[in-house]
Amino acid sequence: MKIICIGRNYVEHAKELNSPLPEKPVFFLKPETALLFNNRPFQLPSFTSDLHYETELVMLIWKKGKNIPEDKAADYFRHIGLGFDFTARDLQQKCKEKGLPWEISKAFDHSAPISGTFIAKDKLPGNIHFLLKKNGQVVQDGHSADMIFSFSRIISYVSDFITLERGDLIFTGTPAGVGPVKPGDKLEGFLEGKKMLTCSIK
Ligand code: MG
Repeated sequence: MKIICIGRNYVEHAKELNSPLPEKPVFFLKPETALLFNNRPFQLPSFTSDLHYETELVMLIWKKGKNIPEDKAADYFRHIGLGFDFTARDLQQKCKEKGLPWEISKAFDHSAPISGTFIAKDKLPGNIHFLLKKNGQVVQDGHSADMIFSFSRIISYVSDFITLERGDLIFTGTPAGVGPVKPGDKLEGFLEGKKMLTCSIK
């Protein structure tokens, strides 16, 4: 399986990072070894001094597809979960400045904690609400209606380049409010009021 992540998909988040708004979806990949399951703690890696959380709705791909038209894309995912796209912001900034790929800042081991359960999308409202609490305080509060590129647009666009397969995950971008973590911090992600994911920082 593979993990595809959309960048800059919320206007207010692009602004907080001083990134231009994309005309087409921006995506990058994480390997399977990035996954972190079962609310396991995250060990801060030594190569960064500015590790950021990004809380994202995650589509679980249901069936294989290539060149999927946007009006058929909804058939390709049935469940939505919650994940963190952990980012070494200091390394990412250096990569951006040099025009280099982002992998060292985004694709490292355990950079993608993921909820143990996914919710059937027909059980969710059209405008999905999700949020992140850091040490009990709400720091990110997002709605899927604020995405620049919809779930269907993302699937259609990505599948023009990469065959999607059952079991693939697509992280759909983060709303504003990203920030750093330090040892002892506790992150809790909620989807429509239901706690989906917890991660303690070590
Ligand atoms: Mg992200």
